[in-house]
Amino acid sequence: MDLFEKCRGFFSDPAVAQAMGYPMNPRSAQAMGLYPYFIPLEQSEGTQVTVRGRSLIMIGSNNYLGLTAHPKVRQAAIDAVREFGTSCTGSRFLNGTLALHNELEERLARFVGKEKALVFSTGYQTNLGTLSALIGREDVIIGDKENHASLVDGSRLALGRLQRFRHNDIDDLERVLRACPDKAGKLVVVDGVFSMSGELAPLPEIVPLCEKYGARLMVDDAHGVGVIGGGRGTVARFGVTDDVDLIMGTFSKSFASIGGFIAGEKTTIHWIKHLARSMIFSASLPAGNAAAALAALDVMEKEPERVERVNAIAERMRQGYHALGYNVGGSETPIVPIMIGDQLKAIKMWRALFEAGVYTNVAVPPAVPAGKALLRTSYMATHTDREMDQVVSIFKQVGKAEGII
Ligand code: PMP
Repeated sequence: MDLFEKCRGFFSDPAVAQAMGYPMNPRSAQAMGLYPYFIPLEQSEGTQVTVRGRSLIMIGSNNYLGLTAHPKVRQAAIDAVREFGTSCTGSRFLNGTLALHNELEERLARFVGKEKALVFSTGYQTNLGTLSALIGREDVIIGDKENHASLVDGSRLALGRLQRFRHNDIDDLERVLRACPDKAGKLVVVDGVFSMSGELAPLPEIVPLCEKYGARLMVDDAHGVGVIGGGRGTVARFGVTDDVDLIMGTFSKSFASIGGFIAGEKTTIHWIKHLARSMIFSASLPAGNAAAALAALDVMEKEPERVERVNAIAERMRQGYHALGYNVGGSETPIVPIMIGDQLKAIKMWRALFEAGVYTNVAVPPAVPAGKALLRTSYMATHTDREMDQVVSIFKQVGKAEGII
């Protein structure tokens, strides 16, 4: 079939979308008011956003520490744009490395407790570049089934194979490790904090298995750094910094910017620096974003109470939802899922909350397994108690009306 014809068919004929496993196509969803994507925000001040002139409480953001509106972070970005302009217009490899990138790398390495760090333009590119640089034809990546898409895509780009194990299932991880050829280089890769469920990877159990089978361990801590372990992430929270070989983080969440980093042993980082195509063949992180991430790191170090606050809010919300009869899964972080199951029910609940003034994110397959649709709620250190009380009361009213509780 002609490629463009395929696209037209998807949007115009509901049967085509259904045959592909979607209950409806985006156009039908829009006509029914059930389309939850690409909603433009007219204004955003962190915990409150404006959509079509209406103010909503935002509980769908990864701005965990609330730093996108922090005066020092904003000012650092403005000053850097004044000094360096809006873009580096080149790769880190050539004209695109600033002293700011190097400073950020030194500070990050110290912060997470590793020898060296390397900054990329996004977290997505960090995972693509790291996995494709490290994994040769004979090597194996062993990944949790619920790992982030960027790790899956990085594995596809790498020359070696990806073997997946059941989510957070140590016995299944051992089964996969045991079956790996002896001479293969092995890299176990997990999310530190799983981005949809807010669950932690059981690192204290994964570390000894890696040692037993001679595998290296990489943790994608996009949702952990800045948030748990006193801000130093999942690896610090479990006290396994020296046992985890590579720690990945992103600036698009707690760091109030965009960009990503990989941290580890000096020579490995040096290798990645010279072989990661997603860094070499793409322009570097603009100065404003590097400066914002640096300023965010300053705030993290100087205002540890923000980490405590966001976790206290999450605990309060988990208890609030639980008391109303919602299933919040096994979250231990500021990501608190509301498990719904049925895809259409989840989207209807999302819309009712949106109309009542609460912005959440709805996750349906393929972001989550079939039959496991959920509302992903997430919290910021800057949310007020009043906002949180309002959210719980709206969830009570809407959940009853929608037949969820
Ligand atoms: N890893 C995880 C676990 C993530 O959740 C994300 C972003 N959602 C990324 C990597 C990619 O990060 P970025 O947005 O910086 O590209």
